[in-house]
Amino acid sequence: MLNQIKGFLETSFLDWPGKIVSVVFFPKCNFRCPYCHNHGLVLTPEKYETISVEYILNRLSEFKGWVDGICITGGEPTLHASLLDIIRKFKSDDFLVKLDTNGTNPAVLKDLIENRLVDYVSMDVKGPLDEIRYSRNAGVQVNLSDIKESIKTLKEGTIPYEFRVTVVPTLLKEDDIIDLAKQLSRADKFTLSNFNPSDPLDIQLKDVKPYDEDMLKRLQHRVDEIVKMPI
Ligand code: SF4
Repeated sequence: MLNQIKGFLETSFLDWPGKIVSVVFFPKCNFRCPYCHNHGLVLTPEKYETISVEYILNRLSEFKGWVDGICITGGEPTLHASLLDIIRKFKSDDFLVKLDTNGTNPAVLKDLIENRLVDYVSMDVKGPLDEIRYSRNAGVQVNLSDIKESIKTLKEGTIPYEFRVTVVPTLLKEDDIIDLAKQLSRADKFTLSNFNPSDPLDIQLKDVKPYDEDMLKRLQHRVDEIVKMPI
């Protein structure tokens, strides 16, 4: 079934730095991160109109030449059996493909990489790689071995990637972020994203004040140094 897409943004300058992309949104997710701002797609995907791949391909044919690629996001795209076929259709039109994933499906990630169906992967990590902190931040019990396998796959692979973490002050203290940076040692890139309290899945987070931008920049600088350090 190729009819699972629930959102299509025709152009974005933000989703793949340095590139102009269209963004395709898949519904559902196996996590319940309290800070998730796409929780409509995660919790009530049936409320969104389904958009056909054919419609998207049609629109993309009009953008050829100035849109560089497609960002596949969600929700969690790797939950969908149709993902590889859909990406194949985009690739056959010569679009670059970026995948956003939470890393819970290392086998799908490997398939995508081995079949050269992705050109960039952004893996969202949730916290230090231990069951308690990771599961708390993901809002569900997480199988950490899958997460570690995805991290290993990206680090040992040949395509560009980044790890990202959303920094919610009540879920990640400075020490947690440093622990995670050490665990992601020698990664290509590890980016801290600030938390946006405007519409989180867990409404209790609405009252949480994000870290100020100067603090986040200082932390990013520290994290960059740790990730670059030899093991
Ligand atoms: S992994 Fe992403 S889409 Fe899924 S609940 Fe967490 S933030 Fe939302």
